[in-house]
Amino acid sequence: MNIGVLSLQGDFREHIEMLKKCSVNPIEVRLPEDLRNIDGLVIPGGESTAIGNLMQKNSMDKEIIKKHKSGMAIYGTCAGAILLAKNIVGSNQPSLNLLDISIKRNDYGRQLDSFESELSIKNIGKFKGIFIRAPVIEKVDKKVKVLSSLNKKPVLIRQENLLASAFHPELTNDSRIHEYFIKMVKDYS
Ligand code: GLN
Repeated sequence: MNIGVLSLQGDFREHIEMLKKCSVNPIEVRLPEDLRNIDGLVIPGGESTAIGNLMQKNSMDKEIIKKHKSGMAIYGTCAGAILLAKNIVGSNQPSLNLLDISIKRNDYGRQLDSFESELSIKNIGKFKGIFIRAPVIEKVDKKVKVLSSLNKKPVLIRQENLLASAFHPELTNDSRIHEYFIKMVKDYS
């Protein structure tokens, strides 16, 4: 089982370190061919427009979609969640169009820049949520399972083998969400 981390922009190094702690040997994905032997992909936080534009340049987006259709699981954190969404409110920036949600960028009101909040996550328990210019998940289809919410808005969701969070577990020392994703990848590969 191989897990890749999309390493075009953003905090991919933190995801790589976290996955190493979970005893997987992560692969840095920079080119479409790096996806070849991958069963699960992490899309990091960063700037979703920048990552989206870079992904389009060498048709990485098409390759990710193709791999996903043949079973590759994906976990998007923050900008990564935006890039998975079928609807990005008020924006026509590039997206992979896979996850049945509406998401709005930079929309946590006065706490726009960054904040921390204790979350309660289904089957995991309490977790430190680190939010940095986080998007708000405004609507989810009924296919989507909400694993955690904050102020009645979903912050961790799952749709089959897609996982997305508005916050950044890779910036904590807590690997439980990454472990959860690794199990998801195993279950689908
Ligand atoms: N605000 C960024 C965006 O819209 C996401 C921020 C993040 O990934 N921490 O792409």
